Amino acid sequence: METRFRSVFLDGSWQRPDSNELITVRSPATEEEVGFAPRCSLTDVDRAVDSTSRAFGARDGWSRWEPERRADVLDRLADVLGRRAGRIARLISSENGMPVSLSAPVEGAGPPRLLRYYAELIRKTEPEECRPALTGSGSTIVRREPAGVVAAVVPWNYPATLTMFKLAPALAAGCTVVLKPAPETVLDACVLAEAVAEAGLPDGVVNVVPGDGHVGAHLVAHPGVDKVSFTGSTTTGRAIARVCGGLLRPATLELGGRSAAIVLDDADLATAIPGLIGTALVNSGQTCFANTRILAPRGRYAEVLEAVTAATGDLVLGEPLDRATQIGPLVSRRQRDRVESFIESGLATGARLTTGGRRPAGFGRGWYLEPAVFGDVVPGSALAREEIFGPVLTVQPYADVSEAVALADDSDYGLAGTVWTADPQRGLDVARRVHTGTFGVNGYSLDHGAPFGGVKSSGLGRELGPEGLDAYLRLKSIYR
Ligand code: NAD
Repeated sequence: METRFRSVFLDGSWQRPDSNELITVRSPATEEEVGFAPRCSLTDVDRAVDSTSRAFGARDGWSRWEPERRADVLDRLADVLGRRAGRIARLISSENGMPVSLSAPVEGAGPPRLLRYYAELIRKTEPEECRPALTGSGSTIVRREPAGVVAAVVPWNYPATLTMFKLAPALAAGCTVVLKPAPETVLDACVLAEAVAEAGLPDGVVNVVPGDGHVGAHLVAHPGVDKVSFTGSTTTGRAIARVCGGLLRPATLELGGRSAAIVLDDADLATAIPGLIGTALVNSGQTCFANTRILAPRGRYAEVLEAVTAATGDLVLGEPLDRATQIGPLVSRRQRDRVESFIESGLATGARLTTGGRRPAGFGRGWYLEPAVFGDVVPGSALAREEIFGPVLTVQPYADVSEAVALADDSDYGLAGTVWTADPQRGLDVARRVHTGTFGVNGYSLDHGAPFGGVKSSGLGRELGPEGLDAYLRLKSIYR
């Protein structure tokens, strides 16, 4: 698979970028070059938005196609991506260090499934509904129209999946898209562009602009953009929200998290802990919904801390492309430095490190870090509250279920959470009480058919499910 891109995918073909600069992607495991792609200039972004606008609004533009015809194209794109799934998964593992045992089912197999789901959904969605008027006589047609040109800005941690959370519903709805991938994972975005070309999407329906935050900032503020869909950090999300607020431009924002796993007093640790650790340390904790704050009943605190410590210490750390690997390297030196600074600040507050937290022996290169567990965490400290986005777990005691819920809610974020119990009904009661956008009972299996998103500093709006399609449609009422 080609990983060296000197051209950008604009208006349906590979074109010379305005700038000569390249973004070089290095493997977080070997520090060696994986490939490169152009670093787009702001002029390239302008060209991309112009092309995307034309593709949206032209006489035979994408927005005017019958839904059935669009759905057929999405199915074709799913077929093309499905044929390349294994290679895409391995490429992403090489870019961001994700173990291939995770990238294959998620980054490889997930995007085609999402495309097929939204193709089917748009086939079944009525574009117009006629209602008897509530006031006066007559009736009203309520139309669902595509929102327009979408700026999709995505992070590096699940690049293919998070791109498809946006691309699949946006295209199904009749929108056209400018995609801005993260610099760490520009290569898989270029491979997606190749697939778009192979599947025969009309020119300009999808344009890809590799670049950094400046390119993203220019794109979201561009006058030709109608809707912004962003996944990334809360800091960047706030900056984008300010811009979109000023422009009164709709934005979906999927931001950070620091979710809690509540272990109830009746939990069977032998069955609960493996699932809990999986949810907490998936992709080395570089996952927005990672349940890295573990809350244990005071009477079983020592037992839970010991079980979490043992299970974490047993995880297989290794090369991302090795099928046996459970924990790969962190995405970059900067990310490892950041995670290590949380570990140092935790130790400085007197928190007790029970396993990991060091650079492992035997790895001469790469951004590896042993997954860490902390007990005796100081409530309110950075270690206890902030998004670490790495393999660091904290275990805190609670007195009763009300305190567990209060501790789970004692966060600026509200994206996810779990409860672990022998009694699913008790689990459901807790799930209903925690203030968060998503929650799992005895597991956390993200359902693509249901809305996903956060409350508080975790974001605005929802992706996935039929609600994820609504985000790319706007309503018009025609009174008759
Ligand atoms: P980031 O905010 O630094 O970057 C995300 C994307 O935004 C990148 O493409 C980046 O180039 C671009 N960008 C940066 N500054 C910009 C600006 N001013 N305007 C427009 N675009 C800009 O985030 P990251 O470090 O790449 O990703 C990690 C973060 O993403 C974590 O906080 C994580 O929780 C969050 N995340 C959230 C979800 C979710 O669904 N809620 C999913 C995955 C990741």
